Amino acid sequence: MKMKALTVTGPWKIDYGPVEMRPLEDDEVLIKVMYTGVCATDIAIFTGDCSFVRSGEITYPCRIGHEFAGIVAKTGPKVTKFKVGDRVITDNGVKCGKCDACLRGDYANCKNDRSVGTINCWPGAFAEYMYMPERHTYHLSDNIDFKQAALIEPISMAVGAMRSYEVTSDSVVAVIGTGPIGIGTAALAKKRGAKKVIIVGRTPWKLDVGKQCGADFAVCTKDGDPVEQVRALTGGLGVDYTVETSGGLDTPMQAIQMTKKKGTVALVAFYEHPIPNFEIDAWTARSTRVIGVMGEPGNMQMSEHEFATGLNLEPIITQIVDFDDAPDFFQHSQETKKQRIKALVRIGADK
Ligand SMILES: [Zn+2]
Ligand SMILES: [Zn+2]
Repeated sequence: MKMKALTVTGPWKIDYGPVEMRPLEDDEVLIKVMYTGVCATDIAIFTGDCSFVRSGEITYPCRIGHEFAGIVAKTGPKVTKFKVGDRVITDNGVKCGKCDACLRGDYANCKNDRSVGTINCWPGAFAEYMYMPERHTYHLSDNIDFKQAALIEPISMAVGAMRSYEVTSDSVVAVIGTGPIGIGTAALAKKRGAKKVIIVGRTPWKLDVGKQCGADFAVCTKDGDPVEQVRALTGGLGVDYTVETSGGLDTPMQAIQMTKKKGTVALVAFYEHPIPNFEIDAWTARSTRVIGVMGEPGNMQMSEHEFATGLNLEPIITQIVDFDDAPDFFQHSQETKKQRIKALVRIGADK
C-alpha cells in the first residue's frame, strides 16, 4: 500500500508523492492524519537555515511535521488502549522501548531517542498516515476539533511556561511575541485568572489576535520603548512574570527590565544568534529569577486538557493549505510570513 508524503531532501528541496507504507509493528497504532500544523522549525529545515541542521543533528532526507491530530486506522496486535476510529494525538518524540533505560521505564534517558520530524527523525506528519507506538499515543477529547487539536503540540510549550510560575488572580503577566506560543501563553495566563495580561509585539494585527485570545493590553514596539510602555501600564513597577517567546536579540534584556524587582522571567524561545550587549548587572540589580523552559513529559496531556476545558485559539489559525499545495506553500513561506500566525495543512480532513 502507498500513501502520499512530503519529505525534505535537502535545502529548498521537497519530494512529494506516493511512498510505500511499511508494515505496522505489534505495539504501534496507524493514524490517519487530519491536519498538520506548520512550525517555524519545519520551514527552517526546508530552507536549511536551522541551527540543528548546521550542527548535524537534523539530517536529510527528513519527513517533517510534528503538530498533528488524527484518527486510528489500524492497531497492532499488542495494542490495548485504542481501537479503529479513535481520535488521537501523540508525543513529539519516540523512545525506543528496547534499551536498558526504556526497559527500566526511564524513558527520559532512552539512548535511541527520536524526535518526530526533526532530530534523529521519526517520520513526521506531513503524510497521510503516521506510525506511533501506543505508549506515545493519547486519546483526544470529543469537544476539541481537529484544527485546534493540531495546536496542542505547539501550545504544550506555553503550558511549560505556565508550569514554571504559578499565575494567580493577583498576577500581572507580560508576554513578548505574537506567534502561536506567545498568544497561547497570554490566553493561558488569562484562563488562569491573571489580573492583567500584556502582550508585546511589533505587528498590530497579530497583537489584535492576542487580545482576541485573552490579552488585556497590547504593547506595540513601533509605538516606542516596550519597557517604558509596560511600566506605564503597571504604575511604573513592572510585571510579576514575563514570558519571552520571540527569540529577538533585544527581548531577553527587555523582559528583565519590564519585570518588577524580584520578579520572574521565563525564556521559551531559542536564539539563533549570540546576544550582544546583554547587561548582566541589570539582571543582578533587579534580583530577577530567570528560567529556561523546554518541553517535558506531561505537557502534551496538560495542553490537551486546556483545550478540552475551554482554551480556544481558533483566531491564530490564519491559513489552511491543501496537502497538494503544501510544496508550493513551503517554496513561498518566507514571502508570506508576515501574513501568518499558524498555517495548517489539511491532509485527511474533509473540506
Ligand atoms: Zn514545532
Ligand atoms: Zn530506549
